[in-house]
Amino acid sequence: EHQKLKRITTSRAATLDNVEIELHANIELPQDIPAVKLSGATGIGLFRSEFLFMNRADLPTEDEQFEAYKEVAAAMNGQPVTIRTLDVGADKPLGDLTDHTLNPALGRRAIRLCLSELALFHTQLRAILRASHYGKVQILIPMLCNLTELQQTFAAIERAKGTLSADNIPYDANIAVGGMIEIPAAALMAQAFAERLDFLSIGTNDLIQYTLAIDRADDSVSYLYNPLHPAILHLISQTLRAGEKTGKPVSVCGEMAGDPKLTRLLIGLGLRKFSMQSASLLSVKQQVLQTHSSEIYALTQKILKTSDADKIDGLMARLNQS
Ligand code: PEP
Ligand code: MG
Repeated sequence: EHQKLKRITTSRAATLDNVEIELHANIELPQDIPAVKLSGATGIGLFRSEFLFMNRADLPTEDEQFEAYKEVAAAMNGQPVTIRTLDVGADKPLGDLTDHTLNPALGRRAIRLCLSELALFHTQLRAILRASHYGKVQILIPMLCNLTELQQTFAAIERAKGTLSADNIPYDANIAVGGMIEIPAAALMAQAFAERLDFLSIGTNDLIQYTLAIDRADDSVSYLYNPLHPAILHLISQTLRAGEKTGKPVSVCGEMAGDPKLTRLLIGLGLRKFSMQSASLLSVKQQVLQTHSSEIYALTQKILKTSDADKIDGLMARLNQS
């Protein structure tokens, strides 16, 4: 059994009909890398950089951030490392930096906060760019909602690049920049985002929260937090179509990606790239290896067309038994 698990860990992830599926890991800190290595992940799909900022009184300096990003980039040996820029606010408050407003999830968080605290953003972008010299680093922007934010973000990246060039500090001038699709508005206009970005990553945790108006941290409504709500499946499908049309890769990095009961459905909807906590990777891979992508297509389309959430459960059971 141990040998078998080990073989699965190192084997490539492909369906029975040989469709390659990329399985990446989510991390919070460089300390998570050994678990990533054990899991057999072929990259970091989501490095939640805010954990470098949490549980301390001051902000991490550019050098501190650079060392952490570089450590991860170097450890991954040329495999992609997707560093998400600071995503604080809402469920991740940070001292005086984040506001204590009535609806923090709808407030000044993530990219909104970075674009209103440009010095802080500049420091992080310089640190990420410097690390890009030591591995295949990618930048991921959280909570995008409109194209103006994207323009402002590109301008901030250009400014950071300019100062590094002026200082003769090496960085990857072609660093890929991707955006999180986790606000329903962004999913609805995924095509416009895909045209302007190098890749998209669907944050289903927030996408579910904002689409269904269910606070992801509120136990009293958790029974309504349903990843299989038809509206969620539509938004995921629409985002995947935008990726296909524009030729840009789309991944899912929310919890849905790590749930083996959803692996087949997501493959059927067209997902080819998953990022999850390392501990889930092996069970998701086992599902991938047992899935025939063309045989499940019809049933996943049927699930996508079902507007009655209660009927979806039965169809999902059929899908996972097929
Ligand atoms: C998400 O929203 O799905 C996500 C991956 O980001 P986080 O859980 O950190 O908000
Ligand atoms: Mg999120």
